[in-house]
Amino acid sequence: MNVVVEESISLLRRPGIRMTQQRLAIMEYLTTSNSHPTAEEIYRELNKKLPNISNTTVYNNLNFLKEQGLIQELIFGQSCSRYEWRTRPHYHVICTECGKIDDFELPELNRLEEAAQRESNFQISGHLFELYGICTECGQEPLQS
Ligand SMILES: [Zn+2]
Ligand SMILES: [Zn+2]
Repeated sequence: MNVVVEESISLLRRPGIRMTQQRLAIMEYLTTSNSHPTAEEIYRELNKKLPNISNTTVYNNLNFLKEQGLIQELIFGQSCSRYEWRTRPHYHVICTECGKIDDFELPELNRLEEAAQRESNFQISGHLFELYGICTECGQEPLQS
């Protein structure tokens, strides 16, 4: 079990909260994966270790961890939700060819929320910002044979 998961378990150690084997497995997977998997991908991965796990269990547990603020649900356009462990605020670049998603950080953008709040008088609660392009693998010229 890695450190992030151990810390999260202590956060969750509250009355009425049960740390199940499934929740642990989801947490382990999300803290070690940086590929922003979909619920389906998480299910397929966990199924290798826990053959009795159902799709519904995975969904319910993902919702639970989201409500606890440990993971983040990402919705990109029309595609299905993806999940990631909640780390530092960051943004996503998405490959239009293969769908690969990478992280990058741009702390300057936090000022955007302050500016928006000032200009609009809205109580700003968050923002989404995604960039599309072609990843290094897809951008490579095909090998000449
Ligand atoms: Zn690509
Ligand atoms: Zn990310």
